[in-house]
Order: sequence, then structure tokens, then C-alpha cells
Amino acid sequence: MSDAPRDRPATRVVHVGRDPQRFLGAVNTPVFRASTILFPTVADLERASRGEYEGLTYGLHGLPTVHDLQVALAEIEGGAAALMVPSGLTATTFPLLALANPGDHVLVTDSVYGPTRRFCENHLRRLGVEVDYYDPLIGAGIERVLRPNTRIVFTESPGSLTFEVQDLRAIADAAHARGAVVVLDNTWATPLGFRAFDHGVDVSVHAATKYIGGHSDVLLGAIVANAKTLPALERLWTDMGVTPSPDDCFLALRGLRTLAVRLARHQASALRIAHWLRARPEVDQVLYPALPGAPGHEIWKRDFTLAPGLFGVVLKPVASQKLAAMLDGMRLFGMGWSWGGFESLIIPTWPERVRSATRWLAAGPCVRLHIGLEDPDDLIADLEAGFARLAS
Ligand SMILES: *Cc1c(COP(=O)(O)O)cnc(C)c1O
Repeated sequence: MSDAPRDRPATRVVHVGRDPQRFLGAVNTPVFRASTILFPTVADLERASRGEYEGLTYGLHGLPTVHDLQVALAEIEGGAAALMVPSGLTATTFPLLALANPGDHVLVTDSVYGPTRRFCENHLRRLGVEVDYYDPLIGAGIERVLRPNTRIVFTESPGSLTFEVQDLRAIADAAHARGAVVVLDNTWATPLGFRAFDHGVDVSVHAATKYIGGHSDVLLGAIVANAKTLPALERLWTDMGVTPSPDDCFLALRGLRTLAVRLARHQASALRIAHWLRARPEVDQVLYPALPGAPGHEIWKRDFTLAPGLFGVVLKPVASQKLAAMLDGMRLFGMGWSWGGFESLIIPTWPERVRSATRWLAAGPCVRLHIGLEDPDDLIADLEAGFARLAS
């Protein structure tokens, strides 16, 4: 086994987490639905109640479809194990609940996904956990805001809406020196684009709803953990019974098989469109870390192996009705939350509404684009017609 060649990422997403021999030769692990699992003897049931039974004991505890997805994601990202949960939001909030205790202090990046911040405000504080937000670009300066009781440094890179790229290695080194663990929302890069555990991250969480599912038809989260943090996460996962549906895990496994090719196309089209946008007179700044010269590009180039199709654009100041005319009339770009499916999206964003430690000072409005798998020339034509409405 140890002599086997190490397959490259695009090969691994095709082969990890499936074993056709277990399922009559079927290529894919089927949707395996079960609540009750029957035991042949009292002795077996008794062993199961002591946690000493080999094999499945109950539908909550690792149905094959859920298990195989967990194995696949842990293997791709290089964690000790993965736990699947019913949504990306469950995945981002779950480590906070599992790892922080009353009296602990938690540091959260100011560019965090809005609903994760809402959980910290509404629930971590209620449970007696202190929460502070920090500048996403703080890097090694995190040292200055760490406290003796800091238990978790929550990171997200690039940040939601504003796409700041964080220096995870510097943050992790400082956090570990003070006994804190680092949680990363790695949804943007996926397990393929940023090898979180190689950069000192302890828990990497994903909205599998986005690129892993990849088709805008599933809600799912993944928590990938190292050996240090896994026991506490596993305990809460078992005690809360938050396993997702095997149907959703089946869709995510199906999505995973094409993740590498889809991301390559998302990145190529996004880069092309980002270059085109930067040259437009209506555009102030393109916030796509993979674009040379864009904010965060140097750290992105150092740490990431790919970029997906999601980025922000700061427009020059323009009346809000003109922006609405642009967005309301798009032909191919849809308007809606979430992203990571095969289709392109565009929405206005308001980063200044979800900050407390830093200020978002852009003069003009922000939009967020998701570049899907369409022909990029058609997407550019759609944007060009949109800019004509913006100017009229
Ligand atoms: C979408 C998203 C989530 C939440 O995922 P859901 O499955 O919609 O709950 C978490 N983090 C980031 C960065 C996201 O973009």
C-alpha cells in the first residue's frame, strides 16, 4: 500500500470514497436509506450498546452513502476525518459550539460569512463565550489580540463579499503558540484549492452546497478536522444527531467526481472576465485574488492551487436605480444567494453592513459575480449589455 504512487488531485476526486465490490459492482455508492439496523443476536445488540460492535448500528451513525463522502473529503483535504452536516451554516457554527466553553474567548475575522457572525452574536455570547472581531489582513499581528483565554481563531479566506486573503500560516503559528485552535471556512477554495492542514489549520469547514454539490440542488456541510480537534467534534456530532440525508450525500459524491474539471473551467472563465472587467471604465476594482495585481494575489499565489468562479467588483459611484437597471435586465446571470453551481450569478452586496472591527470605505457600490460554466463570450456580452443599461 505504502508503495502505491500518490495520485494527483484530479485523479483522487474520481477514485476516493468508493468501493464497487461492496455494492454488487456499482460504480457509485448507492443511496443507502435506513433508520433501524437489525442485530442477529442479543449478544450483538449488547455489544453495539457498549460501542463495541463492528458495522452499522443505527441510521444516525454513519450510513454508507454518508460515510463514503466523509472518507472522500477527509482524504482529499488531508484531515484525520470528516463529518457531514445538513448545511454549510451548520458546518461553520458547529466547531464554535463544540470547541468553545463558557469563559473562553473567540476571535472571528471581520470578513466572515454574515450568518456565521449572527450565530456568534445570538448564541456564543448567550453561552458565556466572549467574541471579538479582527481585521482579516491582520496576519502575524493576531498576536496582539490573542488573550490567555482565546480558544478559537475563526478564519475565512478569501473573506465573504470582500475577498481578503488571510495569511493562515502566520495566524496559525501565533494561535498555536497561545494554545488556541484555528478554524477555517474553506468554502471558496474547496478541499482542492487550499490544503488547509498544510497551512496549520485545525478544522476546515465547507458549504458543500457550493462547488462540491455543484448543481444548485443540495444543501450540505462538511467539517474536516485534524486528530487534535476530532474527538470533541465527533462527540457533539453523535450527541446532537446532525447527520444529513443519504440522498444529499449521494448528490455531493456525484458532484465531487467532476469537481476538478468544473473548477478548472470556472477559474479560466472567471480570470478572463475579471481581466475584461478591470479594463471597463465603470469598474473601480476587481476583487479576485487569482487576478495578477488584485488585492491578496501574492498570498493567493503562494498558498492556493486554484481559484473558483466567485469574485467581487467595486463599481465607480453610480445611482442605485442605474445599478438596478443593469442587474434587473441580465439575460444569463441570475440573481440569488448561494453560488458554486454550473450557472452564473450576480448580486449587489453591502459589505459595510456586516463589519465591526474594520470599515469598508469603497466609494461605489459592490457586486458579486459567480462565473458559471457557460461560454465566457456569452457572459461578457451579457455584462456589456448590462453596462449599457447602467450608462443610459
Ligand atoms: C454559503 C456559505 C456558507 C453556508 O452554506 P449553506 O449551505 O448555504 O448553509 C458558509 N460559508 C460560506 C463562505 C458560504 O459562502
